[in-house]
Parts: sequence; C-alpha cells; structure tokens
Amino acid sequence: MAASFEEVQNLYHNYVMSTYAPELVLTHGKGTKVWDASGKVYLDFTSGIAVLNVGHAHPQVVAAVQDQATKMFHVSNLYYHELQGRLAERISTIRGGGKCFFANSGAEANEGQIKLARLWGHDQGKYEIICMKNSFHGRTLAAAAATGQDKVKKGFEPMPAGFVHADFNDLDSVKAFITDKTVAIMLESVQAEGGVIVGDTAFLQGVRSLCDEHGLLLLCDEVQCGMGRTGSWFGFEHAGVSPDVFSMAKALGSGFPIGAVVASPNVADVFQPGHHASTFGGGPLACAAALASFDVIEQEGLVAKAKEKGSLLKEGLEDFVERFEHVVEARGEGLMLGLVLDQDAKPLAKSLEEMGLLAIPTAGNVIRLLPPLNVKDDELEEALDMLDDCLEEMHEGGDSEVA
Ligand SMILES: *Cc1c(COP(=O)(O)O)cnc(C)c1O
Repeated sequence: MAASFEEVQNLYHNYVMSTYAPELVLTHGKGTKVWDASGKVYLDFTSGIAVLNVGHAHPQVVAAVQDQATKMFHVSNLYYHELQGRLAERISTIRGGGKCFFANSGAEANEGQIKLARLWGHDQGKYEIICMKNSFHGRTLAAAAATGQDKVKKGFEPMPAGFVHADFNDLDSVKAFITDKTVAIMLESVQAEGGVIVGDTAFLQGVRSLCDEHGLLLLCDEVQCGMGRTGSWFGFEHAGVSPDVFSMAKALGSGFPIGAVVASPNVADVFQPGHHASTFGGGPLACAAALASFDVIEQEGLVAKAKEKGSLLKEGLEDFVERFEHVVEARGEGLMLGLVLDQDAKPLAKSLEEMGLLAIPTAGNVIRLLPPLNVKDDELEEALDMLDDCLEEMHEGGDSEVA
C-alpha cells in the first residue's frame, strides 16, 4: 500500500525544508494523466512545468533510460562517452550549428552561459549583462541576479554584480543601458514565469541588431520555451532571430535532469580545459533520456503538434475572454499559454485541481497551461470543459457573465 497523503505530508513537514507548499501527493503518471495518493486522476496541464513535453512515462524514454542503466550510470567528464557526443551533435544539427556544454538544470545552464559571456568579454574589460525586468533565470545567485524580479533576490543581498534590467519589449530601454562595460543582452523569447509574455518580433530583431552594432552577445534562456513547446524547436525562431548562446533544460531529458549551454562555434571555443565543469553534466543516463526525447518529438511530429494543438486550445481560451467578465486575455505561443484574469489566479487553479485539472497560477493573475505536446484532442476538450465550469462558478453570484 502506498503511503497516505497525511503520512507523506508529515514526512515533508518534519524532514524537508519548506521551500515549496505542495497540496497533493502524486504517485504515477501516463501521458497527460497523473494519479494522486487517493487514486484520483488529473489531467496534467503543467507537464511538471514544461518538463514532460512527451508526457509522463513515455515508453521510448523509459526504455532508453532502463537500457543505459544496465550499462553505465555515470562517466566522469575526464573520459569521453559516445552519448554526450551524439546528443551535442543532435542539438547542433537542429539548431543549425554550434557546440554544447552540459549541466544538470536550468539555473546551472544559465550560469554556464553567463560565465561563457564574461570570459568572452574579459580581455576587453566587458562583463555587464543587460537582462529584462519580469524575467526568470533560476535560483542560483548569478541566475537570481540576472532575474528581473525582486522577490527572488529579497533577503539574499548583496547580489553578484554585473547585471542591469531593461524593460522587456522596449528597445529604447535596452539601448539606454549599453555602456563600454556591456558584454551581452540576455532574455527569454517568451517570458514564462513572468506571465507568458511573448517577445515582440520587432523587439527581438531590434535586440539582435543592437548586439551586432555594439559587438555584444545575445543570450537566450530557452529553458522553458525550448524543445518544441512554442510550436518551433526554439522560442527565438518565431522572431527569426538567432542568439549567439542559449540555455536549455526542463524538457531536454523529459524529466531526467539535464541542462545545456549551446553556443555558436566562435563563442563556444572560448571555453578551454579548466574553465568550467560539472561532475554529472552530460552523464550517460541523462543523455540517453535526452536522445530518446528528441526521437519521440521528431517521430511523433510534436513540434508541429504543439502549434496545431496550441491554436485549438487558444481558441477555446479566447472564447472565455469573450464570455467571462473576469477573463481579460489569452496569450502565448504553441502550447505555452496563459489565461489572464482581472484577479488572483490561485483560487481558480485550486478549483481546477479539485475538478481534476492541474494548471499553474503565475505572475499573480495568470493561469499557465502547459500540456504535453502529444496531448489528445479529447483531453483538450475535457480541460476546456473543466475551465468553463470553474469560470462559471467563479462568476456565479454576480451578474458578471457578459453574454
Ligand atoms: C525553470 C526555469 C529556469 C530554472 O531552471 P531550474 O532547472 O529550476 O534551475 C530558468 N529559466 C527559465 C526560463 C525557466 O523557466
């Protein structure tokens, strides 16, 4: 018998630091579905926060990890391992060139690209990175310093120096921060934790031009919007922009921890032996999971599916904007979508959870929807029905329904 909710909650209460505030015990998953300790089933429209792009327990990923586990769990980066080379080749091929450094998480991949940019600019005395307000880059000190939200920095000061914050989607604001110390501009092509805010094409192209004019690197954080999530392999493709360096993590290993820094060759070669390292980075289990994830995404056509299913879901959300007074906007790209309310999104997320749909409240008033890219049409419909019911409930009591 699996432990009850109360037993697991007590274990956490007594022995796990309280950095999170979970309210469910999940026991297993399959595709878009997950089960809790009481046996209740949910549609998982969080995908573990954009990690499970191929869904829970995809048989090909499971088989790849099982197979590799019988051969070798770990190889030190003091030695070559074929799978790390194969994975780097795969990423480089999809990207159209470039070399990889492997880490274990999004924050660590961002640390890697920050260090690479600093080393690249070091001899010219350039180190400052222009980041964006409302961005999110992770919880290590440098990634938190790059993040444009005070709540991740509060209490941890002094923050590492060398980061300034411009307004996202405002090119003049970025321009105003460029000095002879600037080495790079860093951004998410779609701000995810910030509330699913898509970077304007003109803005992203403008930033690319600024980088070219001033000899700066463009760093993209593709940790959440990469791996097909937005309907293209990488979020920056929507704007036709090519960064010099970008980070990946979340969906790269379908839940097996792995992150990557991907850099164009002239920048990548700045890293030489001794400059940067990670014990576990690019280990064989992680690379096996990532290679299988690429196989699944390609074989099942999931990049195109993200676009197709994303527009279906967005249509449904736009309908809510028309019908419900307190729903103000549906935004996002592909299957990274946000439903914007005129009030705190947490109560709605809670009632969705009770009904059987997991979605993430973010940036105060946004419900973030991130289903697996192979979500089925009937699952999309079921989720929209649950949203409809919960929105009805939310609007009940007042005369707030527009139609
Ligand atoms: C989740 C996230 C990170 C941090 O990734 P971790 O694996 O939690 O360190 C960084 N950037 C973006 C855009 C993210 O969504």
